[in-house]
Amino acid sequence: MSQVPCARCGDFIESSDALYSDSGELVCGGCNAKAELATGEERAAAAILSASGTSVVFGLAACFVLNPCLAVSAFGVASAVGTFVMLHRNPDYRARLGARAPIAIGVAAFGLVLSLVAPFVMFALRLLTGYSGVL
Ligand SMILES: [Zn+2]
Repeated sequence: MSQVPCARCGDFIESSDALYSDSGELVCGGCNAKAELATGEERAAAAILSASGTSVVFGLAACFVLNPCLAVSAFGVASAVGTFVMLHRNPDYRARLGARAPIAIGVAAFGLVLSLVAPFVMFALRLLTGYSGVL
């Protein structure tokens, strides 16, 4: 039986038990599981960031483009609230986001405010300029 060192932790493992990491290194089962977990958390962190950005996009669209029956505002609010809920319920994702967590919160808060003021912004625009959105 030949033994190989794990590329991550350096422990010697039976070559038959060794697994390949994403980058093609031989790693032990423990390091492989950790890497997979980290990949999943990173994906979730990216989803949280994208939800916060989505709330701003919906908020801007609701203010200046269209907001039939306040539907676009509702989507913006839902995206922002989704961001807060995901961050609140998952400390692991918060940790994974690190310095990006406050950014996600700030962006989502901005999107939330935009979505909420959208009907008033649209109303003011219509009153002042006659512009009433694309639709
Ligand atoms: Zn290892």
